[in-house]
Amino acid sequence: MKHFRKELWFNISSRRALINITDQVDNCLKESGIQEGLCLINAMHITASVFINDDEPGLHKDFDDWLEGIAPHEPLSRYRHNLTGEDNGDAHLKRQIMGREVVVAVTGGKLDFGPWEQIFYGEFDGWRRKRVLVKIVGE
Ligand code: ZN
Repeated sequence: MKHFRKELWFNISSRRALINITDQVDNCLKESGIQEGLCLINAMHITASVFINDDEPGLHKDFDDWLEGIAPHEPLSRYRHNLTGEDNGDAHLKRQIMGREVVVAVTGGKLDFGPWEQIFYGEFDGWRRKRVLVKIVGE
């Protein structure tokens, strides 16, 4: 069995953003040479997510509005976590609901997606360097 590991780095210059990382993951798959197997993609930080959905700007704004409705960034005093001196209590909750990772089947050397599926990095506490892990196993 072959295995491949790579870290993708991000430095988002805003608090929140959704980034389509499908091409970067696809490049990892090409680099791995794996034809049949599984590809895991996970955020390596507890205030960021990796998820699969449609690459449609209206939907992305809907996600942001929905998450701000559930867990608004302010007031900071809303979150006990912020008593630690941090200001990212909302980002931990947003990450939890949007998920840590996705797994995509690899078939014939390609990411085996359903219709319109794309992979996104969800940043909820940006302005610093953060990573996503890509691990591919198979043959
Ligand atoms: Zn925190």
